Order: sequence, then C-alpha cells, then structure tokens
Amino acid sequence: MTTASTSQVPAPTLDTLRTLHALPFPELVFRAQEVHRRHHDAAGVQLCTLESIKTGKCPENCSYCPQSAHHDTGLEAVPLMETVAILRSARAAKAGGASRFCMGAAWREVRDGAQFDSVLETVRGVAGMGLEVCCTLGMLREDQAARLKEAGCKVYNHNLDTSREYYPTIIGTRTYYDRIDPLAAVRRAGLQVCSGGILGMGETTEDRLKLLLELASLSPQPDSVPINSLVPVPGTPLENQAPVDPFEFVRIIAVARIAMPRAMVRLSAGRLIMSAELQALCFMAGANSIFLGDKLLTTPNPGRSDDLRLLDRLGMRPLPAGPSTPTADGHAHDHAAHHAAHHDHDHHREYSAAGTYAHACTGAGHCDTH
Ligand code: SF4
Repeated sequence: MTTASTSQVPAPTLDTLRTLHALPFPELVFRAQEVHRRHHDAAGVQLCTLESIKTGKCPENCSYCPQSAHHDTGLEAVPLMETVAILRSARAAKAGGASRFCMGAAWREVRDGAQFDSVLETVRGVAGMGLEVCCTLGMLREDQAARLKEAGCKVYNHNLDTSREYYPTIIGTRTYYDRIDPLAAVRRAGLQVCSGGILGMGETTEDRLKLLLELASLSPQPDSVPINSLVPVPGTPLENQAPVDPFEFVRIIAVARIAMPRAMVRLSAGRLIMSAELQALCFMAGANSIFLGDKLLTTPNPGRSDDLRLLDRLGMRPLPAGPSTPTADGHAHDHAAHHAAHHDHDHHREYSAAGTYAHACTGAGHCDTH
C-alpha cells in the first residue's frame, strides 16, 4: 500500500455524505483535494495490474459480470493458470511499471485443495519479485486468509458492489452478509482490505452514498477502495445500462475520498470510455490509482502507453509500493512514525468542513473515539 493504516478513522453519517454530495461541484472537488493532499502524494498514482488467473464458469449470478455461468456472453472459460505462466505475467507487469499485482479467480469461494495450494505457490513467487500481491478469489475463511498472508499476499479484494438495499436486484446467489463476513475474516488474518463497488447498475445516488457509508463504516476502514463504472457487456442482464453521468462519477470519487481519507481510491473498470479530462477530474477528486494493461479481468482497459502518456501530460508520476504520505513539498515519505504522532486530527477537520459532523477531540495527539 502507499498509505498508512486506515485504522480508527471515524465513520461519517449518511447525512454527512448527502451534504457533501450536494455541494456545488467545484466546492466538493476542492474539499476532496484538500483531504487528499493531507494524506497522500498529490502527484502520485499507483499503477496496478489485474490478472484473471481463472476465467469464467462462475456459479454466481452477478448481473454485471461476463464470467457468470448464468449469462451467455460468449466468454471463453479458462481453467486456473499454471504458476509459471502467472509469474511470467507478473514479471512483465513489474517491468511495465506496476507496483501491485492483483490476481482474480472466478470462484464463488476458496476451496482447500490442489488449486488453492497452486495459488499459494504463485503468491509466494509474485511476492518474491517485490510486487505487492492482492488476491480476489471469492469468499474465504479466516484460516485461508491466514495462509494467503503467510505466502506473502498483502491485500484481499472483496467488493461490496452496491448498497445493501439494491444488492438483491443485482445478485441473487448470495447475500450482503456473504460480502461483509469475508472482509472481517480477512482483517482478522492481518491482510489489508480492498473493497469498493460499481456505479451505473441502475442504482440511485442514495444507493451509491449508502455503499460509501457501508465501506466507511467498516472498522478499520478499507485500505483500498476501487470505484468501477459499469462496462455493460452484451449477454449480461445489464447490457443496456446507460453510462453514469461523468460529473456524478467524480462526485462519488470525491465523497469516497473525504469519507475514507487514508484509503487508496482506485479508478477501476470503465476507463476506456472516459476522456482524459474526466480521468484528470477523478484524480483531482482524490483517485490515486489505476489499473494498467489492456484488460481488466475480461473487460477492455486503456493501453499502458496511453495511461503513461496521460500521467505524463498531467505531470503525475507512478507511486512505488510501500507506505507513503505527503510532505510539504508533495513528495512521499514513510508514514508510520508520522501517523503515530498525528493520528486522526485531520479527519476532524474534514467532516467539520462538511458542516455536519463533529466529535470531541482531546487535542494533543489523542482522540476519544480511538
Ligand atoms: S463478479 Fe465474481 S462472483 Fe460474481 S459472477 Fe463474476 S466472477 Fe463470479
């Protein structure tokens, strides 16, 4: 990760998020940028690569997903890749500038056995290259998460996707608790949590804010929050969804940044149809990570050279792996000692700035909610 622990950031209320979302656009982006600069290198973007290590034939029926066996999308299913092939991809990702390598398998849940053992061997190999390893393998138990950690995995991704209320409209084969419970197991095992959602599935703004509230209310908050824009894939139930209004997308990024100040906010699926200007606005609103490579699991993504050109045009630079935080000159440095001293005082200011949230603070580097 490129930021310090997200522990012990006080959760906002839904009213706080509504108030932030309703601010005039420049005001909201300005506030998000203020928060962003207090916690992150304002010119830094973490570059990640996401590899589909087992593709398709998933028994779940997520309406947005071309990998579901319930939808006829013409996607070619690929069984679990051999370790040696994945390590080749990881090496190429590292050579291409990625500092994090994420591996996704279209499984409902992790099952003990030869396939999981193979994933563990792969994790060991990727971690040994000095890449941050993230896995997204479906639901899992704490002991399985612990084995991943022991192998060198740093982060586990498990998205909440949308609000608790809208979730059953999108997925019928599991419940919201099936999403929340593995996140707790991941935390207990000592892995970092990556969890976010998808915009553009027919949900309301209220659903989007409730998703952010769910994420921001996790204790500790997620270390990483991917915000995806739906890529409507022919053959899925959401194939005809209209794209999210670009300014609404930026607003949600900005609210996510303010509500989860220490998290990496990842601008994830859907970038292929985003203009350079829209992506720049997302960075201004607090997004600080993108996925490199022309595919994001199975959906198209901008080419690596286009992304590097965009960062160059914006005067932004790739972030290295490891903890960092902004300094006065906008460069990253190790955060751990700084965090211990300064704790969450900035966050009090953030919600106070929204005019709707405040809690008592004893000052002098200690807060009563911790
Ligand atoms: S999103 Fe994941 S769990 Fe849902 S169908 Fe796709 S691969 Fe399966």
